[in-house]
Amino acid sequence: MEHMLPNLPYVFDALEPFIDARTMEIHHGKHHQAYVANLNAALKDQPSLSAMSVDKLLRNLNEVPESIRTAVRNHGGGHLNHSFFWPTLKKDVAAKGPAIDAIVKKFGSFEAFREQFSTTAVKLFGSGWAWLVVDNGELALVAAPNQDNPIMTGKIPVLGIDVWEHAYYLLYQNRRPDYVSAFFNVINWEKINEHYLAAVS
Ligand code: MN
Repeated sequence: MEHMLPNLPYVFDALEPFIDARTMEIHHGKHHQAYVANLNAALKDQPSLSAMSVDKLLRNLNEVPESIRTAVRNHGGGHLNHSFFWPTLKKDVAAKGPAIDAIVKKFGSFEAFREQFSTTAVKLFGSGWAWLVVDNGELALVAAPNQDNPIMTGKIPVLGIDVWEHAYYLLYQNRRPDYVSAFFNVINWEKINEHYLAAVS
């Protein structure tokens, strides 16, 4: 089974002016596509592993031969992270619902959450993702390097922001804090509610 690049669930300029169309086009069509291609290349002589979902591969990296383990971790992680990411982006979605209720309960207020999530994203050194996860039934913040996904350490992702420079450099250059701030205008809270409810059920 070849892994496939999922379609973007909207047009490239759907997130303007917060995330620009050119970034979306390159991020999805070049970067995500490359993770998919490199994952397929790593698995080409591994029929049993090729039949596994990328989620399952990353939960069971120890079963992946050492010679391709890093490639599966990086490119499989890249494929999983970006497949998760695209549907969580949408403009003009009200921040309400069970995930918001749980966020307020955990962090004290939505603003306090926003501040802590943003700090996690801004301070992450190099390339990686900041995640809101469910860990043992509780919300928590995680900074993960490279393309590591929280499922690799038994946590369930609810919301994630890609802070690789390829996610923001064309529009924001070195201004990662501005990108992180803008990101809060394109969070699809309906999708985040779905992830949260699935994680705690
Ligand atoms: Mn990316």
